[in-house]
Amino acid sequence: MNKKKDATTRLFDLLQFGEFGGVNPSITDSSTYTFLNPDDMTETFLGHTQGCFLYSRHWNPSNKYLADALAAIENTESAWVTASGMAAITCAILQICNSGDHLITSVTTYGGTYAFLKNYLRKFNIEVSFVDITNHQSVEEEVRANTKLIYTESVTNPLLQVSDIPALSLIARKHGVRLLVDNTFSPLIISPANLGADYVVYSLTKFINGKNDCVAGAICGDQKFIDDLTSVNSGTAMLLGPVLDPLRSSGILKNMHTLHLRLKQHSKNAMYLAERLKELNLKVIYPGLPEHPQHRLMKRIMNPEFGFGGMMALVVDSVMTANRLMREMQQKQVGYLAVSLGYFKTLFSCSGKSTSSEIPEDIQRKMGLYEGLVRFSVGLDNDIENTFNRIKRCLKELKII
Ligand code: PLP
Repeated sequence: MNKKKDATTRLFDLLQFGEFGGVNPSITDSSTYTFLNPDDMTETFLGHTQGCFLYSRHWNPSNKYLADALAAIENTESAWVTASGMAAITCAILQICNSGDHLITSVTTYGGTYAFLKNYLRKFNIEVSFVDITNHQSVEEEVRANTKLIYTESVTNPLLQVSDIPALSLIARKHGVRLLVDNTFSPLIISPANLGADYVVYSLTKFINGKNDCVAGAICGDQKFIDDLTSVNSGTAMLLGPVLDPLRSSGILKNMHTLHLRLKQHSKNAMYLAERLKELNLKVIYPGLPEHPQHRLMKRIMNPEFGFGGMMALVVDSVMTANRLMREMQQKQVGYLAVSLGYFKTLFSCSGKSTSSEIPEDIQRKMGLYEGLVRFSVGLDNDIENTFNRIKRCLKELKII
């Protein structure tokens, strides 16, 4: 653990040599591993042998390289990579909470996470309180004797609320509960573990990989937590088995080394679009705008060189207008009408009818998710002024401005 070095320096300092001296580590092509001594195999099953690989669902060299790189970025002792972001979230939660426990979550989370917390955890008799995560009093009021966990996204999907991780961490510590943060929207920008989160989860599918060519996730935390997750007897990750394919982890590892450059460009472009769209008197949600409710908080907790991130929302009057706008923008080559984020091209979707559709409409309205909210994942466009002009033409043609 090294708080003095920043995330990119910790990653830069991590030299991972290939098996035969290649600059990229060799890709694991084995599901099982040989032992010269049967006793070592026994010890490995008992979790005692360091450095031995047993079976690829447990650990494999490619996944270990990627996990080490993520732990370096997050400044955690260890990490484990998963076959999806949802696998990371569900395994981490099920490792922390047992039947009869309770957790507190932000009501604004990715729709899949919301559905897991609302509909699926019931099977395990785990109670969930949904709160406005920016209201710390309401978070603390929900803490009960059986509360084990506070869960939030550092920048929430899709409303882009910013979680005050240091304040939530103080509440968690005071009551002896754990703080788990999904940092999918703000890798490098926010360092949750440095700010007091116990565990950090990711959908690597998004900015970290940046290519939209695979689905993957990660759980970062202390060594004991990762050992517990991968225990052959009781580890959620080991027993539910959502292992990432080594070919994919080697690709993601290579993409991680350009993450800092990509994020700066995503942020620069998103800031440009947010400011220019705001000048047209449109309702824009972006943490980089001074009127964003958590703008000052974000400035306090962010690593400023990476900007305010690539996610932005534009609110129009209805789903119908949103749909017409998105169709037009795709036709004018602004980007793709598609879910997901962190891609080199701009992606846009109407959150209430797509990635947040798992959240009932009355709750969407209550939490401030307008039906005409179009979420943008702003791409790496070299000429963002040109992109803005295309969007403006769409807005004019549809008489939105
Ligand atoms: N967390 C956030 C914030 C997301 O937006 C998503 C997916 O959109 C996930 C987690 C789930 O990740 P995956 O699709 O990789 O399972």
